[in-house]
Amino acid sequence: MARIAAIGEVMVELAPYPEAQNNEQEIMALGFAGDTFNTAVYMARTGTRTDYVTLLGDDPYSSQIISLAASEGIGTKMIETMAGRLPGMYMIRNSADGEREFYYWRKEARARELFAEKSHTDRLTKQLMECEYLYFSGITLAIISEHSREVLLNFVDEYRAAGGVFCFDINYRPRLWDCQQQAQQIMMDMMRHADMALLTLDDEELLWGDGSIDATVARYRDCGISELILKRGAKEVVAVVDGEEVHIPVPRVDGVVDTTGAGDSFNAGYVSARVKGYDFRSAVEHGVHVASIVIRNRGAIVKKSKFDADYLP
Ligand code: ADP
Repeated sequence: MARIAAIGEVMVELAPYPEAQNNEQEIMALGFAGDTFNTAVYMARTGTRTDYVTLLGDDPYSSQIISLAASEGIGTKMIETMAGRLPGMYMIRNSADGEREFYYWRKEARARELFAEKSHTDRLTKQLMECEYLYFSGITLAIISEHSREVLLNFVDEYRAAGGVFCFDINYRPRLWDCQQQAQQIMMDMMRHADMALLTLDDEELLWGDGSIDATVARYRDCGISELILKRGAKEVVAVVDGEEVHIPVPRVDGVVDTTGAGDSFNAGYVSARVKGYDFRSAVEHGVHVASIVIRNRGAIVKKSKFDADYLP
């Protein structure tokens, strides 16, 4: 079976512990998440051989992240650790109006040094070449240095030339970029090197000011992407595959409690099905199904037993 490697950052998550919400003293629950990591978890849970690629420290939380990945069946041999370093962290706060606010401590995270050191890059790229599929996002690009982005872009070229398939989600987060123009230029560069693009209409509107699906699709028409998938929340998914635009319905989901991780889990469902050889329509339906389970539960990574109980392969 084909293998996929997902590259990015996984962070320590501190989220309000539900039982303590009405107490004066806030109690936080410890978890671990990050966009590409969430996707890796759901790819593994849906039966795809998945490796995660990141850099961590040698602290107890980094060890817990590695154990968690292993317990999910994710390959960890491309996760390297360094003494004295730490993973990034974020806290979730429930604001008075019921929205979730996110606060990050991630500037010193070891993952920011992905593709920075030649010896590490050489070791890593050799292993990545053995995976048939590669996945990362605009968040992965945003947290690494300009030099590392260049190294990664060159590697993607080499990887695709050798027959590998590169899947990309723009996942635009304005605060991670110096300015919007920088993000536009780098995302566009990456889109020209992608085989599968998994975009969200909200991100496209934020990054480019698009007012319509047509505007989004038109921008990437000459990028040479064979599969462009546009997620639009509860609205139908738009797929542009080999130049043909198809709209695929999203069935109504009852009992939505938290849409965190919807896009990440959709991507996992989509890519996992494609890795297994399903056509793009079935892959979208699979992505929609996986996301529907995630949004009916709290948090980006749903407890495995709950996920497995609702998942229909
Ligand atoms: P992101 O999390 O990246 O913003 P979206 O909100 O577009 O991504 O959601 C990704 C997928 O999750 C959608 O294509 C859909 O399948 C599912 N989804 C998200 N929100 C809802 C919703 N309210 N009802 C049904 N499905 C949803």
